[in-house]
Amino acid sequence: MKIAMYLKKRRKPCEVFATVGTKIPQGLTRPLEIFVTTLFTWNLKGVVKCIQFYADRFPRARIRVGGIAASLVPEYVTSMTGIVPHKGLFGKAEAYPPDYSFTFNRKLNASITFMSRGCVRQCRFCSVRVHEPEFFVKNNWQRDICLTLPAIVFWDNNWLASPNLSDDCDRIEKLGKTIDFNQGLDARLYNKTVARRLSFLKLNPIRFAFDYASQERHVLRAINLAKQYSKSEIRVYVLYNFKDTPEDFFNRILLLNKHGVLAFPMEYRKPTSEATRFPGPHWNTQLLRALKLSLVFYYRKGMITQSRKSFQSIYGNTAKQFVSKLYQIYEYDKSLKRQ
Ligand code: SF4
Repeated sequence: MKIAMYLKKRRKPCEVFATVGTKIPQGLTRPLEIFVTTLFTWNLKGVVKCIQFYADRFPRARIRVGGIAASLVPEYVTSMTGIVPHKGLFGKAEAYPPDYSFTFNRKLNASITFMSRGCVRQCRFCSVRVHEPEFFVKNNWQRDICLTLPAIVFWDNNWLASPNLSDDCDRIEKLGKTIDFNQGLDARLYNKTVARRLSFLKLNPIRFAFDYASQERHVLRAINLAKQYSKSEIRVYVLYNFKDTPEDFFNRILLLNKHGVLAFPMEYRKPTSEATRFPGPHWNTQLLRALKLSLVFYYRKGMITQSRKSFQSIYGNTAKQFVSKLYQIYEYDKSLKRQ
């Protein structure tokens, strides 16, 4: 959407078309350039098909590829298409607001923006350091806001690390819109001052991340502060399938459940072009499959709700029971397929 706006503003006269996949937009006949953006690495095979489709239909057009997945596995895109992808942010387009006229057949109810890019941390499982290696703040993010949309979604990786935090809060408050931080807030940086400052914003839900067992102290403090200063629903992303064990993962979701907050398990996936799941060193395909099944069949939107009773009956009371219950779920699902 930002590239579309950049092209419209800088390459006049310029007509921009946008689509998802291989559906040629109505009216597009002889494009000069085709920009292909990518998101998930496991979908890169589909992206390659798409590139080949457009290269075949429009052999005279210059095709440019970028986005997160292409930045993470550029050699795959090059080997399959001969195109060297652009790595990281597309600097020229960064300065422009998203073109909200492109909704891709979805009802858009929120503006999308970033108050910062990159992150001050270097978590080993996270790809931000590859596609956004520099941490910097954006002073003109308000230009991205579409005033007719009722909400704003911030896609920052770690806004709480921003030196502009207080000014940003003032600006958000003035806009008076409902906001969401899609990527979660860094619990280590969520202190009393921040909790108080954020309590003046229309922020619901409040999301944190609980990636490692060693973050327990910070996460619990953040949850308690959020409860004290806000009435918003608290959701916590819980990473698994990285270096953790199923037992460690269980202990983290149990803790969250006991504290009455929603847990949102997030599976770590290796950045490869393969759609196949790779179990982490302490997980296996049965456990991964069973966990996904449990989230789909017992819960909605992949989130473990606050109910202690449901939690106990689905996952048990101990890490040992958790693992055994997951194997039972896996076997039960397998038996259904045999019928
Ligand atoms: S704090 Fe979050 S965004 Fe930053 S490196 Fe870690 S996981 Fe990535």
